[in-house]
Amino acid sequence: MIELRTPAEIDQMRPAGRFVAEVLATLRADTRVGTNLLTIDKRAHELIRKAGAESCYIDYHPSFGASPFGKVICTSVNDAVLHGLPHDYTLRDGDLVTLDFAASVDGWVADSAVSFVVGTPRDEDLRLIDTTERALAAAIDAATVGHRVGDISAAVAAVAHGEGYSVNTDFGGHGVGRVMHGDPHVPNDGKPGRGFPLRAGLVVALEPWFLATTDELVTDPDGWTLRSVDGSRGSHSEHTIAVTADGPLVLTDRSFLGVD
Ligand code: MG
Repeated sequence: MIELRTPAEIDQMRPAGRFVAEVLATLRADTRVGTNLLTIDKRAHELIRKAGAESCYIDYHPSFGASPFGKVICTSVNDAVLHGLPHDYTLRDGDLVTLDFAASVDGWVADSAVSFVVGTPRDEDLRLIDTTERALAAAIDAATVGHRVGDISAAVAAVAHGEGYSVNTDFGGHGVGRVMHGDPHVPNDGKPGRGFPLRAGLVVALEPWFLATTDELVTDPDGWTLRSVDGSRGSHSEHTIAVTADGPLVLTDRSFLGVD
């Protein structure tokens, strides 16, 4: 069921968006060559506790998960792109890292992800990251009253295809509200003018993710982490946004923190 939020409810969602933005900015700044993924998760735990927020991940156990997630952040490195379960791995020079974080504040959820390279970046990784960021910007631009979900999907895919990347539609954006995953599903490819009409009050997480040379995933033996089938690297950019009468409102915007 698709739920629409009143302007007052969207205002109530702002603290969750701001908290998720601040956590991602903090963790990104702290993550460098030599950082262990378990340290990132521990730091995220501390930030959640300090803020009195609630993790959306720790007890999360959907049909595709082997067991409850047990951690509070997804850390996906290199050929891992989605749902990376933090484990004992120390980041090396040139690693491509995705941090995906969702939390609930005052009963409202926000969900956001960022990809970046620690140490010396490879050009092809920067191009991949730039493409998911541009696809997210295009998705947000398309999230206006009068458009449909398919317009967002088509905008994402056009950016990917323009750079020669293919698109997987198994995992994509989703409604966000009292819980992390709701309707509608927002695939990263689709037909303009099709799908659910975007109305003021719709709150969705938009999340383009692409792999360098494939669109096929395999699940890691940990039961969660999704990797490219061919070992190529992945990037993922996500924001929670509200469709409003005044245009899209990015609830998890980090720009006010002076970071991207
Ligand atoms: Mg999401």
